[in-house]
Amino acid sequence: MKLLLLSKRILLSVFLATFLINYTFSVAEESPELKEAFENIELEYHKLRFYLHPDLKGELTTDEVKNRLVKYVEDLNFIFAKQTIRRFTFNPDSNLVFTLVQPHSAYFPGGGCDMPRSGYEIWIHAVLTDNPLYGTYGGSASFDSSGAGVASRLKWDAIHDRDSLTGGSDELKQYWRQLNHITHEVEHIFGAGISEYYNLNIVKDSTMVEPIHHINLFDPEDLFWGQRQDYWADPLTINIWDNNLVGNPTTYEDLMNTIGFANVTVAIINSSSRRCLIETLPDLNMTQIYVTDEITGLPLTDTYVSIWKVRSVFPYTAELIVDNITDPLGMVEFEWGGTFSNFNNLFLVKAFHSGYESKAKWASIFDAQEEKMVHQNNHFPVHLSLRPVTGIVSSNGTTVETNILKQNYPNPFNSTTTITFSLEKTAKVNIKIYNSLGRLIRILVNETESIGENKIVWDGKDDIGQRVASGAYFYQVHTDNFTSTKKMILLQ
Ligand SMILES: [Zn+2]
Repeated sequence: MKLLLLSKRILLSVFLATFLINYTFSVAEESPELKEAFENIELEYHKLRFYLHPDLKGELTTDEVKNRLVKYVEDLNFIFAKQTIRRFTFNPDSNLVFTLVQPHSAYFPGGGCDMPRSGYEIWIHAVLTDNPLYGTYGGSASFDSSGAGVASRLKWDAIHDRDSLTGGSDELKQYWRQLNHITHEVEHIFGAGISEYYNLNIVKDSTMVEPIHHINLFDPEDLFWGQRQDYWADPLTINIWDNNLVGNPTTYEDLMNTIGFANVTVAIINSSSRRCLIETLPDLNMTQIYVTDEITGLPLTDTYVSIWKVRSVFPYTAELIVDNITDPLGMVEFEWGGTFSNFNNLFLVKAFHSGYESKAKWASIFDAQEEKMVHQNNHFPVHLSLRPVTGIVSSNGTTVETNILKQNYPNPFNSTTTITFSLEKTAKVNIKIYNSLGRLIRILVNETESIGENKIVWDGKDDIGQRVASGAYFYQVHTDNFTSTKKMILLQ
C-alpha cells in the first residue's frame, strides 16, 4: 500500500512538472490553473529550523528576530509555491536557536542517495559576515545524519525586516541576497544543480576548431542561453537583483514576481530526486548525436562529428573524445559515462559535411536531466541540422562566387590533398592546419591570393618538414572578412 501511494506521488509530481513547463508566473497570486493542479497533489511540508550566530541579533530583541524570520519564511513559501509542491512551516518559539557552532551535519556520499525522499526538515544556518563591505554571501548545502537538509554557513549582514525595506536600497539588496542564497541551497538540498548551473554562465570554446561557439549568458545573442530562458531567474543560475536578463528588478514586488525556477529544477524539486543522481538522468551509456539537412530534414550520412568534453570552469580545457562519421541514420553514438562534476558536465559537438555550413552545439548534463525529468525520455538525443552552402544568385540568374572553402580532395588522403577556396575579391589569405587537439602544425599559406578559385596542395608535413601521423586534421582559411574551417583525414 505504501509503495502504491509512493508511485502515485511520483506520477502526480511528473504530471505537475509537465504541466508547469510552459507556465508563466502570475503576479503575486497563484493562477487558477496552478491552484487546480495543486489541489490534486499532496503538498510536501518541511519544518524549518533557524540556527543563527548570536552576533546577528545585534540590538534586536528575540521577539523582533522571530517576527522578522516569519517573514523570511513567508517569502520562501511564496517562491516555492509558484511552481512546486514544497512548503515550509516554521514555529519561531521552538525552531529558532542562537548558536556559536554550525549545527551538526555530515556530507553523505552519492549526493544524498541514502536520504529520505520526503518529509525531512530543512535547517538554515547563518553567521555574521566577515566582509562587512560586501555583506551577505556564501552558503553550502549539506545533510545532517538525522536526515535534515542544511543550508549552512550562510553569511549575513543582518536580520532584516522585510516590511521596512525600500526599493533599490542596500538593505533590500542584502535581504534579497539572503533569500536568493537560501533558495539556492534549498534547491541543492532537493537535488537540483549538481555541479552547478551557474558554471555554465560563461564557458570558452577552447577547441581552436571553427565554428567557435563560446557560451555567454550576458550576451543577448547567446545561442546556448537563448534557448534556455527558463534558467534566467533561477537562483541556481544567477541572482536576479539588477539583472538585465529579467528586467533589472530592484523593488521587492518585482523581485518576488520575477524569481522562478528552471523547468528541470521544478521537476527535481517536486520529485526530490536528490536521492540518487541516476534517477534524474537518462541512459547516457549511448548518447546519440543526430545530424540532418536543415532544408530537407533528412539524415546526413558520412558527416564528420567531433565531440569534446569541456571543463565548465576556468581554463575551460577541451578534450577531444569522439571523432567519428555518421551512420546511414545520420547518427554517431558515444558513451558519456563517469561521475558528474565540473569536469564532466558539458560536451561540445561539432559537425562537418562537404557542401554544408559546419555547426557547433553544446550539450550539458542539465539538458540530459531535462530530457528525463521534464520530457520523460530515457535516452538523450542531441540534434544538429546543417544548412547547405549556397552561392549568391545574381540578377541574371547565374551563381556568383562568394567566399567559399571547399572540402579537400581526396579525403581521406594518403600522401597529398588539395584544398580549394574561392575569394570574392583579391585578399591577404592565411591557411593554417591544426591537429585534432587544436594545435597549429603548419602555416600553409600567408600571402595575397587572387579573386576567384584558388587551389593549394598540402603534402601532409608540418612546419619543420616532418610527415604527420594518421588522424583527423583541420584546415582553416582566414581573410579580413572570412574564416572557415574544415576537417580532413590523413591515412598512412
Ligand atoms: Zn550552489
